[in-house]
Amino acid sequence: MACSVRLPANIQLRTTAVSQAVNVEVQVHLFVLLPLPLILLLYWQFPAQLTAVSALFPALVYAAIALTAALASLMRQWHWLYSLCLLGSHYLVVQQALQRPLSDERTLALSIFLPLCFTIIALLLQLQHKPQLLTKRGLALLAVVLLAPLTMLWLPLASWQAALPLPAAFFQPVSERFLLGWGQLWWIAVVASCWLGLLNFYAANSQRWGQFGAWLAVMAFYLFIQEPDMSGWMTLAACLILLLSLSSQMLQLAYIDELTQLPQRRALLSHLSRLGRRSAITMLDVDHFKKFNDTYGHDVGDQVLKLLGSVLASERGLTAYRYGGEEFTLVFSHNKTETLAEKLEQVRARVADYPLVIRQQDRPKDSKSGKQQRGSNAGSKTVHVTISLGCAIRRSGESTEQLLKRADEALYSAKKAGRNQVAFAK
Ligand code: GH3
Ligand code: MG
Ligand code: MG
Repeated sequence: MACSVRLPANIQLRTTAVSQAVNVEVQVHLFVLLPLPLILLLYWQFPAQLTAVSALFPALVYAAIALTAALASLMRQWHWLYSLCLLGSHYLVVQQALQRPLSDERTLALSIFLPLCFTIIALLLQLQHKPQLLTKRGLALLAVVLLAPLTMLWLPLASWQAALPLPAAFFQPVSERFLLGWGQLWWIAVVASCWLGLLNFYAANSQRWGQFGAWLAVMAFYLFIQEPDMSGWMTLAACLILLLSLSSQMLQLAYIDELTQLPQRRALLSHLSRLGRRSAITMLDVDHFKKFNDTYGHDVGDQVLKLLGSVLASERGLTAYRYGGEEFTLVFSHNKTETLAEKLEQVRARVADYPLVIRQQDRPKDSKSGKQQRGSNAGSKTVHVTISLGCAIRRSGESTEQLLKRADEALYSAKKAGRNQVAFAK
């Protein structure tokens, strides 16, 4: 039977958790984006001190790019290499341009066209599905990303001006870029609409905020183009943001369970290693889940585990982990028996009372009868799953292995006593 399970409306599946284990979902994103405002703040408050260490460039920038590239390869996050190539080639072009005075026409044109080129390539990169690097398409895309900014170095400026239907006002010095004039307005409108597109895209997936931060830093780079030291700092900020974002993705891959979005066993072990003296843990297991899978299919079973994950994540006063399979672990940082019993009973009842609407996917979709069926809930049926819980309160001097073992034994006795209940370890 082909089925799907309709989740209750008040359950929001969590798709953006970073790490409950270190409980820093929001903080990680702030932390990732931190280098940019930090450098800007330093620049406004202590410009002299900031530029005094400019001797560190470009070595630091290249080191950050190389480190990010190495980490990306290690993590097989090949798509990051596109971003790094774009970043690196722009940095190279701007460095070349900065060897000449800004009054130089070509340098001026570069400072105007590169942000536009960068934004458009970034948008195209994000909007199209980036292919694997080691394919013909992937390598072709990489070449475009890398060479598009570099080719600008060799384009004769005069032919640009002749080819583009822009008034002379468009080619004003950077400092006058924001003066009124339709050329500037056109430039701002194109860049702004591209950036709105990018922002819209990134907002849909919080994991991409790191990349967005990096693009922002590169745009700040162009704003500071007249100050070589600052533009170096901005490239460093972009690389740092990419690096931190990659690290947070690494944390996510290592600690978060893909299906339930709960932290998994590795995170649990790290939490247990720093468990306080007053604490308790509970092992939780879905009842007769094998039978449930056999009846409704493994994919429906997966949906139930997802639902259970979101129910447990929304519970206050505990940290939930997916221990493995259909088993979960709840960690409490107190040992008050009554509060624990009340909470666990509440969790048990919440799961048992959830109406899981199982729908057959092969119901007619467009016909009148399909509508009638959907309206009348025909072809769907409501089922319930239950869970058993075994809780152990930590004894003084008890190791976490012993504590886990006692919680497991309590779970076993809850199963033996008929399931759908809470048992406490002796
Ligand atoms: P009991 O009440 O004694 O716990 O019975 P049970 O059938 O739940 O126990 P058992 O441990 O024998 O079976 C666990 C089942 O959980 C086996 C497996 O099919 C299912 N399971 C484990 N991991 C997953 C998963 O990620 N997705 C799905 N759909 N099923 C899973
Ligand atoms: Mg089991
Ligand atoms: Mg089970």
